[in-house]
Amino acid sequence: MRQTGNVPRKPSVSPSKITTYLACPVKFRYTYLDPRARWLLRSKSYYSFGTTLHRVLQRFHDSGDTGVETTSEVLAAYEESWIDAGYNSAEEMAEAFGEGRQILERYVGDALSQPTGAKTLFVERQFRFDFGDFVLIGRVDRVDEYEDGTLEVVDYKSGRQSVTDEDVAADIAMNCYQLLLKKKFPDRNVRSRIIALRSASSASHSMSDIELEEFERDISMIAREIITENFDERKPVRKPMCESCDFLVICQQDPDF
Ligand code: SF4
Repeated sequence: MRQTGNVPRKPSVSPSKITTYLACPVKFRYTYLDPRARWLLRSKSYYSFGTTLHRVLQRFHDSGDTGVETTSEVLAAYEESWIDAGYNSAEEMAEAFGEGRQILERYVGDALSQPTGAKTLFVERQFRFDFGDFVLIGRVDRVDEYEDGTLEVVDYKSGRQSVTDEDVAADIAMNCYQLLLKKKFPDRNVRSRIIALRSASSASHSMSDIELEEFERDISMIAREIITENFDERKPVRKPMCESCDFLVICQQDPDF
């Protein structure tokens, strides 16, 4: 455990850590605990593409110094922000660049012609809540405030074509964000929304107080499992996701894999 002065740093758990742990504890170990394994992480074009779009939308919704307002400003910010890592060829990258351009033109056109009336309170903001033995941390794309006081946490998905309210309700990260927002603003109604950028569709879900309590119980249980887990003893278990995993080369060295 890393130390700050003489005070041990409290373990932190994030939506990414939780979903990685639930998918494969061995992958969790290699992603977050074993510095040698990081050398195996490959750049991925979908990650570069998503990060580029997030950076541009952050500037579009941010009224600060680096904010952009018009379609042409947004497209200029897109060119500036483009990340080219992970593409297999110049053609593949050019195709992705064109797609991103179309996505942003449509997004900005819709936002300017159909304003929601909501005020953006935060962009790319980290929220945290101390649960005693661990801290839950979540970085949200955006939080909007509606006229009735409702706070809506917004998450952009650059790879998805569609999204339903049920998808949002079942999304661990969105529920973590909602929980964190409710902890910070207990007197407000909170809601989460996913925007599927490729189709410009969106869906939302608001957890009831009972659902929030249940989720808090479940997430606390999983977080405590993570912080007390002995990852060295975990053996890799083959599953469909192994084929695209960066750590396959390590797991294949296990004779039982
Ligand atoms: S290869 Fe499979 S078992 Fe190994 S870390 Fe990746 S997902 Fe887990």
